Amino acid sequence: MSHDPDGPLLLEPDEPPAVTVTDADGRSPFVVTCDHASNRVPRRLAGLGLSEAERDRHIAWDIGALAVARRLAARLGAPLVAAGYSRLVIDLNRPLAARDLMAEISDATPVPGNHGLSPADRQARIDQLFRPYHAAISALLDRRAAAGRPSLLVCQHSFTPRLSGGAARPWHIGLAPGRDRRFGELLAAALRRDPALVVGWDEPYAIGPASDYGVPVHGDGRGIPAVLIEIRQDGVAGDAGAARWADRLAGSLAAIAPALLGDTP
Ligand SMILES: [Zn+2]
Repeated sequence: MSHDPDGPLLLEPDEPPAVTVTDADGRSPFVVTCDHASNRVPRRLAGLGLSEAERDRHIAWDIGALAVARRLAARLGAPLVAAGYSRLVIDLNRPLAARDLMAEISDATPVPGNHGLSPADRQARIDQLFRPYHAAISALLDRRAAAGRPSLLVCQHSFTPRLSGGAARPWHIGLAPGRDRRFGELLAAALRRDPALVVGWDEPYAIGPASDYGVPVHGDGRGIPAVLIEIRQDGVAGDAGAARWADRLAGSLAAIAPALLGDTP
């Protein structure tokens, strides 16, 4: 891990790494990432001044996303790249210039540990959490490309059923494609074969280079088909829900892979 030797060290030796790659040599054409996998805060940051109850909420992580991503990657035989720390420490799906990269307020909740950060504090989070995570994804995609293997990028997220003061979000799942819409369109069509499923398109958010990082950089930036998948958190709160979603997504992805790979040079 690279860091400025004069800057503050974030992680103690017994803490989890910034990034964990599982099944790096998985033979699937799919590569799964989970940016908001964890609500862990480095011990030295003292919970960012939030109570444990606040850090259990959706503001700190994508509840259920890692449970789905793990099962999905296992069913597909795909590599999984998962982050080790909370989005409140640094949001791995934001460009470095984004105002909410280290959010001072998240869904109406102030984050005391993100107020008044010095440039060195900010740089430590970038160097020790953001860069290793994205370097792991880049290295994985580089290796696959060098081996002549195609990659189809699946960025697994989850969303809260309702933001503070907001309206109920009706979608069970939302898809947000990168610049190449075909991956998302095929997946949406496959999911919509179940008429009971409410599939959002560009919901709960559309992707943009000013607000997102994974799909624009690792997908669009490399010409790799990519889609961001958001599952509503009440559907993945328990193991059974996560397993159901992983099965459903694995089936849909496997079904559309031949058509997608036919388009991939
Ligand atoms: Zn997310």
